[in-house]
Amino acid sequence: MASALQVDKEELMARRYENDCCDCAVPGYPCLGSACPNRNVLYISCDKCDEDIDGEVYIYDGKECCKDCLLDALIEDGVIKKEGLR
Ligand SMILES: [Zn+2]
Ligand SMILES: [Zn+2]
Repeated sequence: MASALQVDKEELMARRYENDCCDCAVPGYPCLGSACPNRNVLYISCDKCDEDIDGEVYIYDGKECCKDCLLDALIEDGVIKKEGLR
């Protein structure tokens, strides 16, 4: 499966901007239009689990991933060890 390594880097960086402006126009405070901070909200989805990352984005091995996947990857690669408290 050598071809799996030839993934275009652009595809790994799963970022997209979405217009989340919906109800920021309250009476007396109309939407700021192009300056509205809700118009271009950056979403980054995890390269490993494909979920939108809510919070910190970690870059490991050239991939943007969520905390859970980062931990999994670190454990998998033997960088850290997980021990259960029993
Ligand atoms: Zn707005
Ligand atoms: Zn993930």
